[in-house]
Amino acid sequence: MEKREERYRGKAKTVYATDDPLRLVMHYRDDVSAFDGAKLAKLEGKGETNNRINAFVMGKLAEAGIRTHFVALLNARESLVEAMKMIPVECVVRNICAGSMAKRYGIEEGRRLPEPIFEFFLKSDALHDPLVNDDHIRVLGWATQQEIEQMKALTHRVNRVLKPLFADAGIDLVDYKLEFGHPLDDLHGELVLGDEFTPDGCRLWDAKTGEKLDKDRFRSRRGDRALPRSRTTHRRAAVTRRTADAMA
Ligand code: 5GP
Repeated sequence: MEKREERYRGKAKTVYATDDPLRLVMHYRDDVSAFDGAKLAKLEGKGETNNRINAFVMGKLAEAGIRTHFVALLNARESLVEAMKMIPVECVVRNICAGSMAKRYGIEEGRRLPEPIFEFFLKSDALHDPLVNDDHIRVLGWATQQEIEQMKALTHRVNRVLKPLFADAGIDLVDYKLEFGHPLDDLHGELVLGDEFTPDGCRLWDAKTGEKLDKDRFRSRRGDRALPRSRTTHRRAAVTRRTADAMA
């Protein structure tokens, strides 16, 4: 496999083409972003840690029979993935009320939900990812009814694998976001998870102390746009590493 030109530069990852049109290289950078890219910084070691956490989680999902785009870990910062045609919605499952759900309904953060709650959001930074329902998705043509059902079922299945996995490491899996699509060589088959799983896209709380171990640490520090490589930066890197170590 040969890495070729840059295809897409996201907020924390860069995607490269390869000599195989069905495979892409996902490169995890040290960039951190929040509020749809309005807040940006660099966090030393983040790219390597996220690459490692993601490979670990994808391995666990594969063991549980959940198909993902992940193919192989290539090196410290890069993984090989399948090229996909993505559905433009984000799937969120919540085990504990936090973030936008707490704000939207005026519920205190930290309320444990008697069963997981699923939500769809339209993937649009310009519109700040608005909440949408099944009808919006089906009638506006973003996905079929069958795909909607598969996205819900798969996102809940992931929860049944990852919630106990994190619990065993003393971590509450509060919520997470996933995206799905079809591999380019199988456009009409079952949906496949086409997203990474890292502390950038989920909330992880220390089960004993409630300490936040995810990107909310960065989101809540509004104002410090360019973080120097200070003690706080190193502390955040240490927390992300702790998440990785707890799961290893
Ligand atoms: P909330 O709706 O509370 O802001 O987010 C719910 C969960 O989805 C959180 O774990 C959050 O990190 C994740 N999430 C929501 N939107 C995005 C996004 O655009 N990118 C990433 N990486 N994660 C997101």
